[in-house]
Amino acid sequence: MAHVKLHIPGPVEVSEKTFKAFCRPMIGHRGQGFKDLYAAIQPQLQQLLYTKQLVYVSTSSAWGVMEGSIRNLVHKKVLNCMCGAFSDKWFDVSKKCGKEAEALQVPWGSPIRAEQIDAKLATGQFDALTLIHNETSTGVMSPLAEIAALKKKYPDVMFIVDAVSSLSATKIEFDALGIDVLLAGTQKAFALPPGAAVFAASPAALAKAATTKDRGYYFDFVEFQKNAEQSMTPSTPSISHVYALQSKLEDIFAEGLEARFARHTKLVGMTHAWAAKHGFTLFPEPGYTSVTLTCVNNGAKPGGRTVDVAKLQKLVKDRGFLIDGGYGKIKGTTFRLSNMGDETEASMNNLYAALDEAMKQL
Ligand SMILES: *Cc1c(COP(=O)(O)O)cnc(C)c1O
Repeated sequence: MAHVKLHIPGPVEVSEKTFKAFCRPMIGHRGQGFKDLYAAIQPQLQQLLYTKQLVYVSTSSAWGVMEGSIRNLVHKKVLNCMCGAFSDKWFDVSKKCGKEAEALQVPWGSPIRAEQIDAKLATGQFDALTLIHNETSTGVMSPLAEIAALKKKYPDVMFIVDAVSSLSATKIEFDALGIDVLLAGTQKAFALPPGAAVFAASPAALAKAATTKDRGYYFDFVEFQKNAEQSMTPSTPSISHVYALQSKLEDIFAEGLEARFARHTKLVGMTHAWAAKHGFTLFPEPGYTSVTLTCVNNGAKPGGRTVDVAKLQKLVKDRGFLIDGGYGKIKGTTFRLSNMGDETEASMNNLYAALDEAMKQL
């Protein structure tokens, strides 16, 4: 069967080069070969996250580290900032971990704003917050720098940031922002196969984790740090993912970080233009659109054109491309087009051509 190219916002298309790396022969995870591999990619990971902290590789999907952050860092009460399916779910996860949690919910399509967080943290009830930088379900990017600036005012609050669909596509300076945890899964902006995550923790987060009694084992931040100091992971990692990550980091630094960021900005602008050309509006509030995907409004909000999304998806799929038909409660009333990973102007133009053809048949 012919491969249908992925333009859904995760997992995204994986290159031949990455797959070749992924399929390299196994090595022992406690041997020098693995240590050399992990040590070799560490400086590039640190450059990518703009940090001096060790960057950990967890071969779980992103949720493992998202849950782990709650287990390691929440003693009192966590503020879950919610603006879409993934960020909303983090609130449930907090409660499932047995933590006191409060929802800071904004309507889907809106970003989380610093003032809203400030007002909540001013109550003094919270010792942690969770934020999704790029809410993949709505295509909204929240103003991370403004929010992170609050850390100075609330130094004892752990700022836990999910950048699953934005890390490596836009600049996120972990140390300079002063946040406590930054995490990303590999199947989104990194364009690796699903099943791994990278993350970093601040010295304050590590110190706090060390005092947390019920932080568990598999996502124990203290274990990650101890092992990373020896260029190892706490348990047997998916070594294939580490090979793939090494290959991807080669690509990222060959392109250059700034060029990579600019490419994503340019491509998402092309998708916005495609949507406008067909009379669609966008779902996110203006000024807060993602750089890695476009969530097209298809009746979820007043204004703009609407189409039969299931039919559009089918017509586009027949032309070899998989697009997303909307996530959670905005399924069908939005649809999403991804430009994350290895996409180029040429590859995006192929997608728009297929979409144009499909639109003629609707
Ligand atoms: C996809 C996604 C997740 C969940 O990732 P899993 O790989 O399913 O664990 C979390 N946060 C965001 C923003 C995502 O896009």
